[in-house]
Amino acid sequence: MTSLWDLPDFDAHESVSFFRDEAAGLTAIIAVHSTHLGPAAGGTRFWHYADKADAVTDALRLSRGMSFKNAMAGLPMGGGKGVVLADASGAKSAELLAALGRAVESLGGRYVTAEDVGMSDQDMVAIRQETRFVSGLPVGEGAAGGNPGPSTATGVYLGIKAAISRGLGRHRADGVHVAIQGVGSVGGGVARLLAADGARLTLADANAERAEALACELGAEVVAADAILRVQADVVSPCALGAILDEQSIASLRAPIVAGGANNQLKTPEDGDRLTARGILYAPDYVINAGGIINVALEYLGQGDRAEVEAQITQIPERLEAIWAEAAQTGEAASAVADRMAKRLIGRG
Ligand code: NAD
Repeated sequence: MTSLWDLPDFDAHESVSFFRDEAAGLTAIIAVHSTHLGPAAGGTRFWHYADKADAVTDALRLSRGMSFKNAMAGLPMGGGKGVVLADASGAKSAELLAALGRAVESLGGRYVTAEDVGMSDQDMVAIRQETRFVSGLPVGEGAAGGNPGPSTATGVYLGIKAAISRGLGRHRADGVHVAIQGVGSVGGGVARLLAADGARLTLADANAERAEALACELGAEVVAADAILRVQADVVSPCALGAILDEQSIASLRAPIVAGGANNQLKTPEDGDRLTARGILYAPDYVINAGGIINVALEYLGQGDRAEVEAQITQIPERLEAIWAEAAQTGEAASAVADRMAKRLIGRG
């Protein structure tokens, strides 16, 4: 049996904790990758994994991604991630959320949770009953915090605009064709912002009804979920799950830009080189999708309001520009440049 230390995604994580509360129906993992810059912040994913080993891989990869994301966003937070192994029914009880809150509390503040896929701000309210180390709670108008999805969407939208400016020399999104994979909280928000600018949209979602409903609202086209990455477009925007860019999918991309909100889009680091070899401009995922963590981190730290969140999100395009400029100079993949910058910031460079 492979030990945790030998897993390819183990990257000297500070701790990986496994939780099981049978009475509450909770099976969960909390991975703390780094607390070099502050408490390890990152949402908790609620997902049904056919193979439990995939949940460990997700926790390891996503927590490392959070270290890099928080560092590159200039936040005084380390990186961590929670993963709850949902059962096949996807049922989420009050007892389960309370047990998750106790699990977070047991780490004594080394890990601060928030929403991720499958979790809502109301779930954070339930978790709050058991621990202080939670953000992404509902907040009043004008305050920092709450559901991170809209802030993530704003950052991705600004990042797409920076990418079309650099990659296509176009300074406005009207008429630009963007193919969006996954139209949930992030992808749906990105679609609405781009539609307001007059962009042409092609949408896909594993939940076909969701894609159809949004397409109807925005006057967009819909394609099957397994066809979206091959759409001929100006931008492909992955906003569903990770590891969707691999040797095969990169070879069949028909867009000069990949810029989306999903975490861990590259299946392997070599996939960053494959994008570069094809001349595709890639926005490193953890840089472009930092809007949500900026929002919930400022809430948790009690620093600033909504306007401060917006101001910090507007710095995302500058960070992407710096990465693309260095990548153009060195010939490296944008993902490799971003990783190097992030590692330096967390004291592992
Ligand atoms: P969500 O659950 O609201 O939406 C995800 C959508 O993707 C759903 O509509 C789902 O049906 C769809 N989907 C799943 N598999 C698909 C597939 N194979 N093809 C097409 N569609 C598929 O989740 P979200 O909050 O929008 O997050 C989306 C991605 O962005 C995730 O990778 C998440 O980790 C990442 N992310 C989210 C945030 C945030 O603030 N919510 C922040 C940073 C990164």
